[in-house]
Amino acid sequence: MLISELLGKLETRAPLALALDWDNVGLLLGIPEREFRKVLITLDVTPNAVNKALEIGADLIIAHHPLIFKPLKRISDPLLLKLAENRIAVICLHTNLDVAPEGVNHALAAKLGLKVTGHLSGEQGGSWYHLSVTVPAGHTDKVVEAVGAAGGGRIGKYSNCSARHPVTGIFEAGAGAKPFIPSAPDQRRTTVSEEELEFMVDENSLLAVRAAIQTSHPYETPLVYWFPVANPNPTYGLGLIGELPARRSLEEIAKLVSERLCCPHPRLWTAGLDPAAKIGSIAVCGGAGASVLPSAEGSADLLITGDLGYHALLEARIPVIDAGHFYTEYPVLETLEKWLFDWNVPCAALPLEEHEYTRQLLEL
Ligand SMILES: [Zn+2]
Ligand SMILES: [Zn+2]
Repeated sequence: MLISELLGKLETRAPLALALDWDNVGLLLGIPEREFRKVLITLDVTPNAVNKALEIGADLIIAHHPLIFKPLKRISDPLLLKLAENRIAVICLHTNLDVAPEGVNHALAAKLGLKVTGHLSGEQGGSWYHLSVTVPAGHTDKVVEAVGAAGGGRIGKYSNCSARHPVTGIFEAGAGAKPFIPSAPDQRRTTVSEEELEFMVDENSLLAVRAAIQTSHPYETPLVYWFPVANPNPTYGLGLIGELPARRSLEEIAKLVSERLCCPHPRLWTAGLDPAAKIGSIAVCGGAGASVLPSAEGSADLLITGDLGYHALLEARIPVIDAGHFYTEYPVLETLEKWLFDWNVPCAALPLEEHEYTRQLLEL
């Protein structure tokens, strides 16, 4: 398979446009037109990951954290050179994977057995658009189908969403125009009964939707317009809120986190609550979750995340379980493995115990 083909498939699950502004995602090393044989999936591109790729014959690495983040002035990093010399390409899916509908937080929630009820924050890099097109009566369904097939009309868990209302179109054909509905010989202007169709369209589907309208619409020059919408797109968001099948105490949940995430020492910050108190709604955010703490305080009884600093913990108004950056993001590797398996792409994930973080961090 070509690397570009795999990028196209990944785009359907974790579109690059969803990444936050400051991020660096996509094919960070390699040539899209090159064939690859096998993929190694890892959280980070580290020496262990590169050695594993060489060992299993993988010539493409898919990692969560960006291999290159700051602009480079020279390429002298031994790891980058080793990758290039061995013709190993690298794709990074970072904040676009964090906010994707099956991404980092869904993998974390699934591992903990949470029933997800919503997003914790609407934060994401992508925007969405309100798109309108007028279609002559009798041709509407064809355009609606084409827009749906191109990924337009998706709102949260719903697809093929549209609205239509009747309008009267009036036009005057200029020299050389070939109107689909010809003007009557005795009239300068033509009146047509049309329907105006409205859709919500993700940024990453906008080009495909515009092309689909162009080919399914009978007019020479369809009237199409779109503009960005200010409210967040409910399909994507950072962090999730959910509930366990039965209410459990803080202590029990901390134990569950430790077991399910294979995390040896999660930190439980009680925020003054009795550790035996039963907890209802739980917010989760894989990786560094300090930025979503204010949202969690307003909507959940507990936040499970990683990388909270001393002051963030001390000031948290709800209990927090900090299971670490690594352990809260590791579950997404299984999701990536499943996607590649569905696409018949040979792959392997770097096992938990082979990531440097679990090997070299000693508990003294
Ligand atoms: Zn992440
Ligand atoms: Zn991370």
